[in-house]
Amino acid sequence: MATYNLAAILKNPSNDAEFLLLKQTPPPKFGDPEYDSFVDSDLWDLPSTKLNLLPGESESPGVVVDGVESVLEKVNLLEFDLGSGISRVLGQVGLKADDVEGWKFFKLVEEADFGPGSPVNTVYVAGNVVTGEQSLSEQSKWMSTQSCLTMLVDVKPCSDRVGPLVVTGLINDTEQGTTVQTSLHYQEYPPGVIILPMKSRTAKPFRTTNLVIFAPSSATNECDGYSYIARGDALIVDPGCQTNLHDELFKVVAALSRKLVVFVTHHHHDHVDGLSVIQKCNPDATLLGHENTLRRIKKDDWSLGYTSVSGGEDICIGGQRLNVVYAPGHTDGHLALLHVNTHSLIVGDHCVGQGSTLLDISSGGNMADYFQSTYKFIDLSPHVLIPMHGRLNLWPKNMLCGYLKNRRSRESAILKAIENGAKTLIDIVASVYAGVDTGLWFFASYNVRLHVEHLAQQNKLPNGFLISKFQKSCGLHFLSRWTWAYLTTGFMSRYKKLSTHKLLIGGAVASFAIFYTFRDRLKLNKGLQLGG
Ligand SMILES: [Zn+2]
Repeated sequence: MATYNLAAILKNPSNDAEFLLLKQTPPPKFGDPEYDSFVDSDLWDLPSTKLNLLPGESESPGVVVDGVESVLEKVNLLEFDLGSGISRVLGQVGLKADDVEGWKFFKLVEEADFGPGSPVNTVYVAGNVVTGEQSLSEQSKWMSTQSCLTMLVDVKPCSDRVGPLVVTGLINDTEQGTTVQTSLHYQEYPPGVIILPMKSRTAKPFRTTNLVIFAPSSATNECDGYSYIARGDALIVDPGCQTNLHDELFKVVAALSRKLVVFVTHHHHDHVDGLSVIQKCNPDATLLGHENTLRRIKKDDWSLGYTSVSGGEDICIGGQRLNVVYAPGHTDGHLALLHVNTHSLIVGDHCVGQGSTLLDISSGGNMADYFQSTYKFIDLSPHVLIPMHGRLNLWPKNMLCGYLKNRRSRESAILKAIENGAKTLIDIVASVYAGVDTGLWFFASYNVRLHVEHLAQQNKLPNGFLISKFQKSCGLHFLSRWTWAYLTTGFMSRYKKLSTHKLLIGGAVASFAIFYTFRDRLKLNKGLQLGG
């Protein structure tokens, strides 16, 4: 079931084009100067709060909001405590209940299927601030839709930013934005950047891959003075939806310009599963990707021409410029894409909406590259990160530093385990992931191997640790011991009554079953993410 947020549009009594924006609170600092020196620019958005259900049969106290009945078939807003929600948002900008009148329901925006978890829908209400001397909070300011739009589409790196509540609530309605032919919910943020999550064969906790679409309706002219590797009127990034959504993808692609550019961040199947639909729908489309990605894409998915890119190239779409960023780490052909005028960065699987990414050791995943690409992203000072799984991230530097910090602390834990005598992959995994479900150890071992390689590159491994012996322990040695650990935790506790004899036979059979299951999953499912 969806949860609901309340966002307030508070109109200026002396200028009806203006409304109040609140400076958003950034995520907490790290308490470490290395990371705290990277600061995201200020983000301004509508004041908002979580909407709570009214307890029992009680009625919302104090505030009357006209028009809530108009949305009854979608949500019964009378069940929510609009009154206390409104008083909280007023408090955020320094106003009191008496300072605003004429509350009206403005719109309901249902969130796209980003996951994980249920969608968070937004109820917009509008009210008029009463003329008089209000002591507005220093964290608030009046802005018009037009000035917000200018800030959003003509971005100066590190300048103040405007958040998605303004865009979804106010700008998308007034601007002639792109319309996408689909019955699925999608998000347009920043203006011109469409993010359409579509169900895909991706790994838990996610269930969708974000299809990113650029199809500017009015041609601008930012392309002059640059040379381009590809030009078109529309661009789609990572068509990775599963087979039963191929008709939906066909509809989306058929409605886009024939001059279509298709960009893939990397080759994992949850990013390219829909390519075959595109070549059927529009054989004139141009495919762009890194050569390490393109050679891994099967002929069944794409048999037409393509252009390989390696980073630094520009793409011109409807007069707008996008810059290709080489970002290896997740795979050796992994690319990101910077939409220049909104300064939004499509990050592929380098980041995910929640948790961290698993690096694909079988496709050139590499920890040193991953760190380097992360710093490259921080240096770009993007205004928003658009991952291919989960919600977009509005605090890019904070998120990227969080990744650096987590990976470094994991790497120190691995080094500590080695210094304490762990010599094999299973020893290290068992020590570092002691508190984690053993079912996840298999995938965690990918990252551990890459961290050990990274430690070796930095000459940080103690003298007694033999890397050749460690590498030998990464195959069957790990698999057999992990299988045993997997079976004996949980399985043993549930089946204590079974005799040892039966347990051993059952264990042997199950080991083979698990071995083959994971062998197949590994082949098929390279786009895995590991939470935490
Ligand atoms: Zn991937």
